[in-house]
Amino acid sequence: MSQRTFSIIKPDAVRKGYTAAILAELEKAGFKIVAIKRISISNAQAEGFYHVHSARPFFGSLTQFMSSGPIFPMVLEKDNAIADLRKLMGATNPANAEEGTIRKKFAGSIEENAIHGSDAEDTAAFEIGYFFAGLELA
Ligand code: GDP
Repeated sequence: MSQRTFSIIKPDAVRKGYTAAILAELEKAGFKIVAIKRISISNAQAEGFYHVHSARPFFGSLTQFMSSGPIFPMVLEKDNAIADLRKLMGATNPANAEEGTIRKKFAGSIEENAIHGSDAEDTAAFEIGYFFAGLELA
């Protein structure tokens, strides 16, 4: 059944000029881009997005990284979108990512790892609502 998920092309990938290549990978894999925009977020806005990680030792570094330059948040749609995007992204640490995954191709480190993808239905709903208004998804 068709499902929506939330993704971000992270600042490292935008800086390196990988945006179009990552979008091409997503479309080739059957994802429909329902909404997308280019924005920069503040450290406080990054903290709100990653609030579930607030106790982790890398939280400060992660939020600083995510607010370090433009990002492309987007809503993607396909059958089984949440699980299929996680698979296409590859492991968090690109050193462990499988061949053919986006992180294997484009990520530089465990933190600067090119792409975000929601890990469950409830987080996808929160994350879509954090970045997009309903009228942008009609
Ligand atoms: P994801 O679901 O694969 O994105 O990974 P997590 O939800 O565990 O972590 C969120 C993000 O935090 C990752 O995508 C990385 O950008 C960053 N991150 C995760 N683990 C580490 C770590 O051990 N060190 C650092 N510096 N950043 C990390």
